[in-house]
Amino acid sequence: GVPQQTHAVDSLCPFCGVGCQVTYHVKEDRIVRVEGRDGPANDSRLCVKGRYGFDYVHHPERLTQPLVRREDAPKQAHRDWTAQSAMAQFRPATWDEVLEKIGQQFKGILAKHGNQSLAGFGSAKCSNEEAYLFQKLVRTGFGNHHVDHCTRLCHASSVAALLEGLGSGAVSNPVKDAMKAEVIVVIGANPTVNHPVGATWMKNAVADGAKLIVMDPRQSDLTRIATHHIQFKPDTDVALLNAMLNVIVSENLVDHAFVARRTEGYDAFIKNLTPFTPEAMAPVCGIDADTIRQIARMYATSKASIIFWGMGVSQHIHGTDNARCLIALALLTGQIGRPGTGLHPLRGQNNVQGASDAGLIPMMFPDYQKVSDAKAKAFFEEYWNCELSDKPGLTVVEIMKAIEDKQIRGMYIMGENPAMSDPDAEHARESLASLDFLLVQDIFMTETAALADIVLPASAFAEKTGSFTNTDRTVQMARAALPLPGDARQDLWIIQQVAKAIGLNWKAQTVAEVFDEMRMCMPEIRGITWERLEREDAVTYPCTFEGDTGHPVVFTETFPTPSGKGKLVPASLVHADELPDEDYPIVLMTGRQLEHWHTGSMTRRSAVLDALEPVPVVQMHPEDLNKLGVKAGDVVEMASRRGAIQAYARQDAAVQPGTVFMAFCYAEGAINKLTNPALDPFGKIPELKFCAVRISAS
Ligand code: SF4
Repeated sequence: GVPQQTHAVDSLCPFCGVGCQVTYHVKEDRIVRVEGRDGPANDSRLCVKGRYGFDYVHHPERLTQPLVRREDAPKQAHRDWTAQSAMAQFRPATWDEVLEKIGQQFKGILAKHGNQSLAGFGSAKCSNEEAYLFQKLVRTGFGNHHVDHCTRLCHASSVAALLEGLGSGAVSNPVKDAMKAEVIVVIGANPTVNHPVGATWMKNAVADGAKLIVMDPRQSDLTRIATHHIQFKPDTDVALLNAMLNVIVSENLVDHAFVARRTEGYDAFIKNLTPFTPEAMAPVCGIDADTIRQIARMYATSKASIIFWGMGVSQHIHGTDNARCLIALALLTGQIGRPGTGLHPLRGQNNVQGASDAGLIPMMFPDYQKVSDAKAKAFFEEYWNCELSDKPGLTVVEIMKAIEDKQIRGMYIMGENPAMSDPDAEHARESLASLDFLLVQDIFMTETAALADIVLPASAFAEKTGSFTNTDRTVQMARAALPLPGDARQDLWIIQQVAKAIGLNWKAQTVAEVFDEMRMCMPEIRGITWERLEREDAVTYPCTFEGDTGHPVVFTETFPTPSGKGKLVPASLVHADELPDEDYPIVLMTGRQLEHWHTGSMTRRSAVLDALEPVPVVQMHPEDLNKLGVKAGDVVEMASRRGAIQAYARQDAAVQPGTVFMAFCYAEGAINKLTNPALDPFGKIPELKFCAVRISAS
C-alpha cells in the first residue's frame, strides 16, 4: 500500500491531574511522537511520562476480545498472576455471548439477593462522560449508590474537610498561581514526581524570589530549593499545623477583618488551640519551636501565600483533621480568595476531579448533590425517570468488607485495579475472588481482571474522545488518535451495552449527547457546551451559563456554604491506627514514583519508563541498611501483620531512619499487601501513609 503520512491529533496526557495538553503524532495507526501543546496548565511543557509513556497503547498484551473464565479454572486469590498466566484462565467469546451472560448474572443476583447486592467501581482514568454513565448505571440499574473510585484512596479526606469548611471540594486556585505567590507551602506532596509540570511552576516561582516551605517527613527534589524543609515526624501533621495556628493567634497575626466577615466558628476554634503551643508540640513533631514560629509568621504575613498538598496529608485516619488545619491556616490569615493564595489539593489521576464531579462517589449525585437530600433525589428521579434510594452507598474499602459479609455478591469494575491499589490487598483479592460474579472492563489483564468471570476489552486513552477535568477545575477535550485494536470497544459503548443487558431502557448516545445530559444536571458546568469545548479545548468551571468565561480563582467574595462563610473546624491530635512496636518496628509509607503510574498497568508496559525503573525497590535510610546488615541492591523481605513481599533495597537518605518508602506499582512486590485498611471516619480513606512493618535480609 501507499505509505501513510504522519498526522497530528490534539489531545491530553493520560497520566496525572496537571492535565497537560499534548499533540500525538500518528503514523500508520501508531503514535510515533508526543509533543507538548500550549495548554493553560502546561504552556507546551511535558514530563517524562507525558513525553515517553505512550507506547503502552501498542503493547502486545492489549486485550482485543471479550473473555470468559474457563469452567476448569477456579479463581485463585493468593497467586501473583502475570498477564500471561492469567490469560490461560479465560477463553475468547463474542460480544453477544458476554453481554447475554452479563445480563443473566447481574439480573440473577438482583432477583436473589435484592438491590443492595451489586456494586461498581469506575475509574479516574475514564472520561467525564464515561464516569457519568457508569454512576447512572449503578444508581438506576443496580438500585443503590454503591459506586466509588480511586478518589477514596487519594483525596476523600481532603474533600470531606473542604466540603465542610468551604462548601466545595475542588481547588481554590490553579497550580500556576504559585507564580503569583510570595510564599508557597507544599505539604505531604512530592510534585516533582507526581505532578512534574506543576512542580516546574513552583520552581520558576522560587527562581523569581518566592519563598518555598516544604513540610514533609521525606526529602524530595523540591526540598533542595526550599527556604525551609520541615522534616516532621510522620503522623504528626496536626501537632505541627495546630502549633502554627497557635502562633498565628498568640502573635496576633490573624486577619481579623477577614475572620469577622467571612468565617464562623472562631471562638471554639481558638479555644482548641490553647494546648498546642510550639514548645509543647516541638517534641511531638520533631520541629523546634522557633522554626514553627518562623514559618507561621512567613505564611501569615506574606502578601499572598498558597498551600499545595497531596496524599501525605490525606492518607491517614486523621486525614480530614490534617486538611481542616490547612483550611484554618488560610481562613485565619485571609490567604484565600485572591490570585496567588488559597488551597490546592493536588489531584492524582488525570480525571479524578471530573470523575468525582460526575458522581462517581457513593454519597453524592453529580455535582456533589447529596443522595440523602430530598430535593436532589426528587430532581434525579425525574431526570432519570426512575426511583432512587436515599441511602448513601458504600465506599471502596467498605465494599471489600461487604463482599466478605456476603452483602455484595456481584461487581462491575471499569478501569480500576483494587487487587493492587486497595490496602490489605490480600484481603481485597480474597473478596474479589469470592464474588458470585465479577465483570472487569480494562485494556490489560490486570491483577483484578485475573479474578474476574468476564473481562471486556476497553479503549485506551489515545483511542477515545471525551472531556477530562484537571486539578485546576479545567474541563479539557481529549481526542481519539488511534483506532481500537481487534474487538476492543469504546468504554462509553460498553457501559451502554451493559445497561441494556440488565434491562435499562437507555437510548444510544454519542459522547456529545452524554456530555449534554451531564451538564444539564451539573450547575457548575452548565455553561460549557460540547461545541465550546471542541472550539476552545479548555474551560475552567464554575461556568454556570453559556458565555460565562469560567473562574480559575474562586471564593473571592463568599464561600458556597449555607451561610456563605468559611467554617473553622478544630482538629485534635490522633495517632495512626497501627504504631511501630517490637515485632514491627519500622514505619512504611507508600506512594508513587516518577517513572511509574499508580498500579503500573500502563507505565510498566511503556518501554522507556520500565527500562528506567524495572524492579520493585524499597527506599531505606543508610542507618537502617547498616543495622540490618543489608547492602543497597540486596533483596529484602518486608512484612506487616497482613502480608509480606520482597523488594530490592535502595539506599536513600531522603527517608528518615526508622521509616521506609515504597511505590505501589509493582505486581511482583505488591506493597499494598502490607498496608493498613483502617479508615478516616469522615473521608473513609485508608491509612496508606503509615503502618508498621519489619524488614529482614532475604
Ligand atoms: Fe502528563 Fe502530568 Fe507529566 Fe503533564 S505533568 S506530562 S499531565 S504526567
